[in-house]
Amino acid sequence: MRRNEALVVGVACLLLASGQWAQAQAAPPVEPCATRTDVLGLSRVVEVDSAAGPQFGRTPHGEFDFLADGEVVLTFDDGPSRPHTRAVLAALDAHCTKATFFMVGRMAAADPAMVQEVARRGHTVGAHTWSHAKLQTMPLDKSKDEIEMGFSAVARALQGPVAPFFRFPYLRTNAETIDYLKSRHLASFGIDVDSRDFETHNGAAVMDTVLSQLAVRRKGILLFHDIQPSTAGAIKEILDALKARGFKVVHLVAKAPATTLAHYDALAEREIASRKLASAKDPLASRAVVWPQTGSGEGNSGEVLPWTRPATKSKTLSKSQGVPWYKQWLLP
Ligand SMILES: [Zn+2]
Repeated sequence: MRRNEALVVGVACLLLASGQWAQAQAAPPVEPCATRTDVLGLSRVVEVDSAAGPQFGRTPHGEFDFLADGEVVLTFDDGPSRPHTRAVLAALDAHCTKATFFMVGRMAAADPAMVQEVARRGHTVGAHTWSHAKLQTMPLDKSKDEIEMGFSAVARALQGPVAPFFRFPYLRTNAETIDYLKSRHLASFGIDVDSRDFETHNGAAVMDTVLSQLAVRRKGILLFHDIQPSTAGAIKEILDALKARGFKVVHLVAKAPATTLAHYDALAEREIASRKLASAKDPLASRAVVWPQTGSGEGNSGEVLPWTRPATKSKTLSKSQGVPWYKQWLLP
C-alpha cells in the first residue's frame, strides 16, 4: 500500500470509529416545501396578461392593484450579480418562495449562466433596460433601443422565454415611453415599498425600512436590488420577519412570454459573445459589480452602446471594452 492510500484508509477508519462517517455521507433530510408551515412559501400565483401593457405599483404609475391586505410581491432589480444574487436565491429557497427579477441587459449579458440559474430555480425574469438608463428624459428612439436591447439581452442570456415584465430605471417614466410599452404588450411594474438598500451597507437598516413601510401599507410590491450587499446579507432575516408578521407572498408569472425583435437579438448575441471573451481574459473580475443608484443615468459609463457600435468591430475589443463595464464605472 502506498503512503497516500494508507492515509486515506486511516482517515476512513477513524471516521467509522467515531461515528462521523455516516454523518459525512448523508445530508440532513429536507422537509418538502409543500408540508412546511415555518416558511413563507407562496400564498398564490398571479398570472399577468400583458397584452394591453398594464401598469402596476403605486410608484410611479399605479394603474392596477391585485394585492389583498397582507400580501407582498418580492422583486429584485439591477442584477444578476453572482455572489449577491446567489445569496438572495438561497434565502428564497430557504423560505420556499419565489420572486421576480428585473435584470439589466448588460448584466445578463455578462453572466448568462446566472440568468439561467435564477429561472431554473422557478423565479420570474423580466427586464430593466440595457444600461439602466433614465428613459424619462431620453428621446423615444433611444428609449426604444434601451427597452428592446434589455429584453433581447436577457432573453438571449436566458436562452428561453423572458416575461414581458418591465421596470423603469429610477422609476422615472414618461407618457410616450409608457405608450411604447403598451404597443409592445409589455407590463410595467412600479413599486409600493422601497427598501432603499442602495443607501446603506447595514442590513438591519434595510429591514427597518421595509417593515416600517409595511406596517403602514400592509401590502405591496417590494423593491430590493440583488447587487446590493445590504440586501444580500439581510434578505434571509427580512423574509423571516415577513413570515413572523404574517405576510403572504404572491408570485407573478406571465401569461405569455415577451416577443423580442430580431435586430436586437443579433446585437445581444454579439454583446454576450464579446463579454464571454472579456470574461475569459479576466474570469474573477467578471463576477464583481458596482451599480450607482443616484445620478442622471445618462451616459454614465462612457460605454459605446451596442446599437451605435459598428458591426465590423464586433470581434475586436479595444482596451477599454475589455474592461468589464462595471469596472468602467470606477475609472476616473
Ligand atoms: Zn434599477
